[in-house]
Amino acid sequence: MSSEKVRLVRFKVVLIGDGGVGKTSIARRYLGQGFTTEYIKTVGANFYIKKMTFNDNIFGRIFIEWSIWDLAGQPTWDQVRPLYYRGAKAALVVFDITNARSYYNVPKWISEFWRNSGGALPFVLVGNKIDLRGKVENALPPQVGMKYAEMASKQLGIKVPYIETSAKTGENVNEAFTHLAKVILEFAAVKLRARRLAKKS
Ligand code: GDP
Ligand code: MG
Repeated sequence: MSSEKVRLVRFKVVLIGDGGVGKTSIARRYLGQGFTTEYIKTVGANFYIKKMTFNDNIFGRIFIEWSIWDLAGQPTWDQVRPLYYRGAKAALVVFDITNARSYYNVPKWISEFWRNSGGALPFVLVGNKIDLRGKVENALPPQVGMKYAEMASKQLGIKVPYIETSAKTGENVNEAFTHLAKVILEFAAVKLRARRLAKKS
């Protein structure tokens, strides 16, 4: 038997963003449940569990068990949503590249997340529905998402990745979760370093 130390961690993460941007579709796609064009509004929240392995250059090989909370974006749920943020380690903040309004609402989602989860936690910015780029007018170019992520990186002190996905084709959906693991572990490493420095002084 291998003597390799196996680390199992459970990470709670939340999927946030305006209603209709594709949060439920991304979660379903990640879970291997396919894609549907039918829009079934999420009632309150969906909850999913999925495991993945991740090789981290600081923490080594890690087994991650995600508990993924897919929150309803509609204002009707504004009162309930704060409860779901508790204990979350990170967020996938999703906008729809064919819906500029959903992009302009990104800061609102991040501040709601930070306000209810206990501080400036890491996140991955996701521009979804890239299969529609070139098919609809006025789709947002990748630069807008990249720019926002860059700005947020400075604020957070660790790199905020921007990734473009299609829940329809499945493009980059797994990668979004790999980035999520990366930012959570990077954030943990930064905090650990800060604590060690504080002890020394
Ligand atoms: P949510 O409200 O953020 O959970 O959004 P849903 O996942 O329910 O998706 C809203 C609508 O957008 C549905 O009709 C989906 O079929 C559609 N949709 C979601 N993701 C994509 C995508 O990547 N490409 C396209 N073309 N449609 C998508
Ligand atoms: Mg939904």
